[in-house]
Amino acid sequence: MCENPLFVTDSRKVVPGSVFVALKGTRTDGHLYVQEALNKGALYVVVQEDVSLPKDKVLKVENTVEFLLLKAKEKLQRYKPFVIGITGSNGKTTTKEVIYHLIGEGKAFRNQGNLNTEIGLPISILNDYKGEKFVVLEMAMNRVGDIAKLCEVAKPKLSILLNVGTAHRGVAGSDEAIIEGKLQIVQFMEEDGTAIVHHDQRLLQRISNKSLITFGNKQGDYQLLDYSYEELTTKAEYKTPKGILSFHFGSIWNVGQLTNLAAAIAAVDFLDITLNIEFLETFSPIGGRFRVFKHREIYTIDDCYNASLESFRVAVEALKKLGKRSFAVVGSIKEQGQYSVETHKQLGKILEELDGVVVYNIDHEIDPMECSKEMFRSDDPMKICDFLRKLLKPQDAILFKASRSVEMERVLKVFLEDDR
Ligand code: ADP
Repeated sequence: MCENPLFVTDSRKVVPGSVFVALKGTRTDGHLYVQEALNKGALYVVVQEDVSLPKDKVLKVENTVEFLLLKAKEKLQRYKPFVIGITGSNGKTTTKEVIYHLIGEGKAFRNQGNLNTEIGLPISILNDYKGEKFVVLEMAMNRVGDIAKLCEVAKPKLSILLNVGTAHRGVAGSDEAIIEGKLQIVQFMEEDGTAIVHHDQRLLQRISNKSLITFGNKQGDYQLLDYSYEELTTKAEYKTPKGILSFHFGSIWNVGQLTNLAAAIAAVDFLDITLNIEFLETFSPIGGRFRVFKHREIYTIDDCYNASLESFRVAVEALKKLGKRSFAVVGSIKEQGQYSVETHKQLGKILEELDGVVVYNIDHEIDPMECSKEMFRSDDPMKICDFLRKLLKPQDAILFKASRSVEMERVLKVFLEDDR
């Protein structure tokens, strides 16, 4: 039997020689696809319920998610890498990518894309980890306990806790629950581990007797001192225990991303790795996550990938610095549950600072938002772009931002196709 089979949870992705793990999801149940998986050449299937298949093709376990977690844990225990765990409300993916590249391909492994949950993270380790010395893991949290579970698989020696905000607060239950849940990355790291934590009293007052490094915007051991934009580049200055660092980035970084970079610099210093300034200065944010470019002389920000109040705040700050006039096309912030109305009211206040706001209200969750700068509301990308065409002038700046499921990229696509 193959020693490192590919573990697959989506039967459509089964290839000969892989192992199909049947998960009971909210939309569908993997147990319905076990026969299909075998037909496609799966070595065997892992199930938690009885299935009518030949015995030698079935591994029955108590819980298939726990099976994945345990398998990944066992694999890491074989190699004993240095684990760096990253969590926080905003900027995990970008920070993970930066740290991974600063340590260096070959020496480091990181979980791909958003394979950062109790299913994605073990799958990523099982299928892609090749024994690299450093493992950089983005750990996502929906509910309190998620991070503890991921730390059980991969116990961080270095934990990084970025800003803690209001993202997914409807799922977590409350802001207090978000703090408690994310602090688990410090609570459940190695006994002699080190934590790099955002300089936020709500977090710091709950952390004791651990080796602690703080970072922040004008506060903490590693701090962003100042930044400015020049055309499509960013100049930033940092204060670190080793001295002042100055960067000139070849793209636009917002203040949140720049603050998170202080955490990445702290991590690299801690690991005693030489800071690759050239890499940082040429690194571009990942598509959809605050990518800034010019379209017909208009500063355009593609931030369609996701949204929270905090990431809106930093985007608005950047918009105002960038353009002569600043505008935003906005859609709803999801997963806010009982806080949804309050969140959208707060969003309205944040957007007051702009010159104009256009609302893409495809799902109407954003309806409670009130903002005196609102100019136009529609669920039709064409109508929105017609409006923008008449409104925008060279050197204006415009942001496209909403939660993932709103698919704001549909509006951006029409905007970019419009060459009249
Ligand atoms: P995550 O993986 O946590 O979702 P990403 O790296 O994909 O994070 O970035 C997502 C969004 O978070 C982008 O809109 C980015 O501008 C924003 N962001 C990054 N860092 C911060 C921060 N410190 N505060 C607020 N927003 C931030």
